[in-house]
Amino acid sequence: MKCYECGNEMIESVGDYHFTESGSDKIQLKDIPLLTCENCQTTEPLICSAKNLFGSISKATLKLLEKNLTFVMNKDGFWRLVEDEEK
Ligand SMILES: [Zn+2]
Repeated sequence: MKCYECGNEMIESVGDYHFTESGSDKIQLKDIPLLTCENCQTTEPLICSAKNLFGSISKATLKLLEKNLTFVMNKDGFWRLVEDEEK
């Protein structure tokens, strides 16, 4: 696979990945397939079962919170958490 940043051929490996695409800077993925570009140091995780991964992250997060969360969709199509005082 080619690097989307510079077009260089990417190298496959296995390692840990700081999964900031999750929307949090506190999620690490351990021992997953990675593609790395040696030219520009871009690293891409090869995530399979993304739906399952996001479900697991969500379940773990809610378990830590121990409370129910309510989301509403704004007119612009973005989901937003309803704060307790709005309910
Ligand atoms: Zn690159």
